[in-house]
Amino acid sequence: MILNKPLLEPAAGVAQPRQAATGVDSRFDCTLYPRVQNRGIRQPEVRPPMASLNPIQASPPEEKLVVVIDDDEIMRLSCEQILTKAGYRVETFANGHDGIRRLREIRPPLLVVDIKMPELNGFEVIRSVRQFDPDMAIVVITGYATIETAVDAMKAGAYDFLPKPFTPGELRMIIERGRERWRLIKEAQRLRREKEEVERRFITLVSHQLKSPLVAVKQYLDVMLFSLQGQLPDKAVEWVGRSQARLVEMLTLIQDWLALSKIEGGSWSDLAASTPLAPIVADIVQDQRLLPLAASLTIDVALPADLPPVRGDRVSLSMLVSNLVGNAIKYNRPGGSISIASTLENGWVKLVVRDTGIGIPQEYIPHLFQEFFRVKTPETQDIPGTGLGLVICKRIVTELGGSIEVSSEEGQGTAFVVRLPVAEMKKETG
Ligand code: ADP
Repeated sequence: MILNKPLLEPAAGVAQPRQAATGVDSRFDCTLYPRVQNRGIRQPEVRPPMASLNPIQASPPEEKLVVVIDDDEIMRLSCEQILTKAGYRVETFANGHDGIRRLREIRPPLLVVDIKMPELNGFEVIRSVRQFDPDMAIVVITGYATIETAVDAMKAGAYDFLPKPFTPGELRMIIERGRERWRLIKEAQRLRREKEEVERRFITLVSHQLKSPLVAVKQYLDVMLFSLQGQLPDKAVEWVGRSQARLVEMLTLIQDWLALSKIEGGSWSDLAASTPLAPIVADIVQDQRLLPLAASLTIDVALPADLPPVRGDRVSLSMLVSNLVGNAIKYNRPGGSISIASTLENGWVKLVVRDTGIGIPQEYIPHLFQEFFRVKTPETQDIPGTGLGLVICKRIVTELGGSIEVSSEEGQGTAFVVRLPVAEMKKETG
């Protein structure tokens, strides 16, 4: 990405761009247990570790909670009795609709569901649960056990299959196995999150440590070139120039990473602020027109004067616009054009940054908002970048409650469409 110069300068001093089941179907004694009641780039600062990064689920799910969905009351009571005795807390539901509603709320580790039920059958329950919880261990029970039903249940997302009639021991064993599997999945997820967090903290720390010496080296080189003007051999001037370009790339990466870390840290944008977009766009276009890359480009700006201010502070919005305009310049072609237009649409301020540049192959589009992702084509191989600019844009827009979309045609150009909420009339930062 190309960063907005005035926003960069204070940063680094350089201007570079998250039952008894036995006989279930026959006769058995029933003990009724009482039902348990359902119950512009702001300069990143050194921050404490990113505690809010990838926050771990606030209230941990109850590990020994089982939901049983079965239209057969005797079966529900039997499962409840067996599992309660085994130390589980059991909630039972007579139909899929009520069960799913509760599952959504409590996300238990374990679900026991009958396949054959009126209204919503077990397959439909499983499919619905899988949409909001990929990890829940689901055990299906049925009186009509066939290999096909078992295979179908597994395909739909069940973890295991228990044909009727079954013994209390069989039910306990399958539930215990399911719980263990669920626990292992959760543990693996927790470890992965911790590892990612440690890595991020480490990179952030190293980035901070590296920034100052890199800035110093760059400044020494600037001074050397300036004070020894005319005295250095051409080759030396070329090498120093190349070194400076590499330093600028490193500083840009550090800058982007620190900015992203700060946004990930939460509460970065001032959501109460109200900022007009027009002056921001004007400033950024003015700065970026000066870039050598922009020399042959036509940049059109069409922002109506009566456009209402948007939610967010100037710094966040500058960073967003500067990344999008910077990319439109960077990935353009000589003689190309850029248009920046904004309209009020259904209560949202819509900002479109369109360019006639190299475009993005369709297969890369789903990955554009992933950290460090860069399109790798012959056309992009010599274009410097960090693969963090669009991630930063996405995080800012998300934090502000808006959206960002991209459409592109290879060889034709790219358009980024950002929708931002209109600000409530309060303080203006523009
Ligand atoms: P970078 O620092 O690499 O530009 P970004 O996150 O800003 O990182 O962009 C990610 C990738 O998306 C870029 O490497 C580039 O390939 C592609 N891209 C972004 N904007 C454009 C654009 N306007 N035109 C073509 N490709 C773009």
